[in-house]
Amino acid sequence: MTTRFGGQFNIKDMPEDKCPVCGYKINAASDINGNNKVPEPDDITFCLKCAAILVFKDDLYVRHMKPDDLIDVSFDFLVFLIETKNQIIQFNQKYRAARN
Ligand SMILES: [Zn+2]
Repeated sequence: MTTRFGGQFNIKDMPEDKCPVCGYKINAASDINGNNKVPEPDDITFCLKCAAILVFKDDLYVRHMKPDDLIDVSFDFLVFLIETKNQIIQFNQKYRAARN
């Protein structure tokens, strides 16, 4: 699937987990830039159901992002996180509206 970011989704099997915020099943991840990359501990990801910002733990299960995770990130990266979260929320709203 081509993404709005111009890349391809490369789904990687993950340990089956649940979003710690909404409980949505998480068992795959893809690199937002379309790179053929396997998630690594401390990589950031999003729940596609509730748009929670999550972080991969050492065992590649996910946890909710904590304020300490953002200490060394750039302003541009913070903007990117917020924009991506908003895009997921907007996509889900349009998807739900189209199904009703
Ligand atoms: Zn969620």
